[in-house]
Amino acid sequence: PLPRREELAVATRRTSRRIMVGPVPVGGDAPVSVQSMTTTLTADVDATLRQIAELTAAGCEIVRVAVPSADDAAALPTIARKSQIPVIADIHFQPRYVFAAIDAGCAAVRVNPGNIRQFDDQVGAIARAAGDAGVPIRIGVNAGSLDKRLLRKHGGVTPEALVESALWECSLFEEHGYTDLKISVKHHDPVVMIEAYRRLAARCDYPLHLGVTEAGPRFQGTIKSSVAFGALLAEGIGDTIRVSLSAPPVEEVKVGNQILESLGLRPRGLDIVSCPSCGRAQVDVHTLAERVTAALEGFPVPLRVAVMGCVVNGPGEAREADLGVAAGNGKGQIFVKGEVIRTVPESQIVETVLAEAARIAEEMGVD
Ligand code: SF4
Repeated sequence: PLPRREELAVATRRTSRRIMVGPVPVGGDAPVSVQSMTTTLTADVDATLRQIAELTAAGCEIVRVAVPSADDAAALPTIARKSQIPVIADIHFQPRYVFAAIDAGCAAVRVNPGNIRQFDDQVGAIARAAGDAGVPIRIGVNAGSLDKRLLRKHGGVTPEALVESALWECSLFEEHGYTDLKISVKHHDPVVMIEAYRRLAARCDYPLHLGVTEAGPRFQGTIKSSVAFGALLAEGIGDTIRVSLSAPPVEEVKVGNQILESLGLRPRGLDIVSCPSCGRAQVDVHTLAERVTAALEGFPVPLRVAVMGCVVNGPGEAREADLGVAAGNGKGQIFVKGEVIRTVPESQIVETVLAEAARIAEEMGVD
């Protein structure tokens, strides 16, 4: 028999070593985790903690905060202590903020040792401090900040240039016996990014943080990230993901979770199976699907809900779902677990679907 979709996803997973970002395992056979980054001033502790709480509620598992100033570094102890999810400090250039982040109890640090070596060679001291504290480090190579030496050597930002840069950065820590690393090689072009991660995956066993950098506003960024992450995750590459959108970070988390659900890499929550509508539709399917989706957002039990516009495919799909409606003639046939339980006028479809969803949740013992 064919394996189930969840088994397929697990069967193809690349073997990576496991690191711990606070209590969240990344790599090995750990579930692929979703992360995001706050957009508040990190020094504004209250605003940052509020945003972290929103991200946590949306399903974010790891959060990163930027630390560009001493005030931001000073805010880290409170943020790390009060955040419900592990906090990663994102640091460029200043080694003293790396030490501050480790002392503050941050779960991990994102820093590129190449930057630090350039200005103030404290890579060994960082490796020791992070190693002693059990704090992992992400090396984050970005197309926009690639070393000039590599740009010259490769004639631009090629996948190989990104990989060579990442592995060189890793070697700077490896020289000091520190290997508690994860890596990202981000590029704004999914084609370059996919190839870079494929090459990197073949050349090391560090866990990989997937990202399409500067992916763009909500619509374009969602598509770019979904295409790139989808290609890699379907090949078993990727241990944690960050969708980058020019939009509130909660949107990044929703997209990230949906990508993982779509690939069977995490249990599905709400799954709306709705038809695109066509000339046969006998109700306004688009509005109906949007209203049902909005009404069931955050529903506490996993549900597949079919919203179908007519009787051609409608009853078939509706029967396959936990709950469904097949519309026709200004009416909706409501299905639960394959049985038509009633037919209601179009105006009562949404409220009936909601009432039935609540009944299913109650039967499962969830309020
Ligand atoms: Fe068209 Fe009916 Fe199929 Fe919807 S279910 S796309 S209305 S044929």
